[in-house]
Amino acid sequence: RAKASGKNRYDFYTQDMTDQAFERVLMISALRNAIEQEQFVLHYQPQIDLRTNKIVGAEALIRWQDSSLGLIEPERFIPMAEKSGLIRDIDLWVLNTVCSNIVSWQKQGYKLPRISINISARHFGSNSLASEVTEILKRHNCDSEMIELEVTESVILSNPGRASYELKQLREMGIHLAIDDFGTGYSSLSYLKALPLNRLKIDRSFISDIPEDKDDQAISRSIIALAGSLGLEVMAEGMETELQREFLIEEGCNFAQGFLFSKGVEENTFLNLLQQH
Ligand code: C2E
Ligand code: MG
Ligand code: MG
Ligand code: MG
Repeated sequence: RAKASGKNRYDFYTQDMTDQAFERVLMISALRNAIEQEQFVLHYQPQIDLRTNKIVGAEALIRWQDSSLGLIEPERFIPMAEKSGLIRDIDLWVLNTVCSNIVSWQKQGYKLPRISINISARHFGSNSLASEVTEILKRHNCDSEMIELEVTESVILSNPGRASYELKQLREMGIHLAIDDFGTGYSSLSYLKALPLNRLKIDRSFISDIPEDKDDQAISRSIIALAGSLGLEVMAEGMETELQREFLIEEGCNFAQGFLFSKGVEENTFLNLLQQH
């Protein structure tokens, strides 16, 4: 009996794995098709100066727009895009779209803040980013000062020397650089010092349980102090409550992004928010 059930279990797992592999292939081909058809949309989430409550930036957040499934969140397809190598095309679509939006909004007379763009660690490591970004900025005639690239600590860990070289190239072009999800990646502090960064973004996981969680308070406080002593800006991600806002102001964190002010919104809503400010 034990043997039989063991065997059944084995069959069950193999069937399960086959289904997973099958779904993976379907998903990759759907994603490839979505890239060709440009079935994506960008939402923009305002970034706020906590002292003035003014919009000082916005982060571009991608959604996959499927005709039958509707809007699909990035967490449901970015990991697969990274594994399959499609992430480069997605990141380039985002870069192109943001630059084109910036230029067209400026032509419409909007006074824009800088726009942040997420670059996957997988794409960053491919060594082609600086030349790709140069080409895209030139194509749209977009000012390099208008964009910020967000990368995670993992880009530094995998190859510190090369990461530093690539980041320097980008920074020399005038592009702003931020470390996203800071505090989750175990990056060496000595590397941080050597990189031409503008900003650390405190990961949402350290903000969400403030003020209840004293450990998260201590971690956030340390990141704010670290950024200060390295001469970097610090921005909190995922600020949802008034109490979190008070904590951050008290601790000297001047910038934040989060549902308390606004979630990521469609282009038109974002432009309306800008105008109100
Ligand atoms: P991220 O770069 O850390 O982006 C912040 C995420 O936190 C966004 O989720 C945003 O909607 C969410 N968020 C912001 N404020 C709050 C808040 O107050 N409460 C809560 N609960 N969530 C908040 P989103 O848009 O689902 O993106 C998830 C992740 O997917 C991003 O994390 C980023 O790693 C990735 N991603 C998004 N857009 C792109 C893109 O264009 N390219 C690449 N390579 N990755 C992207
Ligand atoms: Mg980000
Ligand atoms: Mg983040
Ligand atoms: Mg994240």
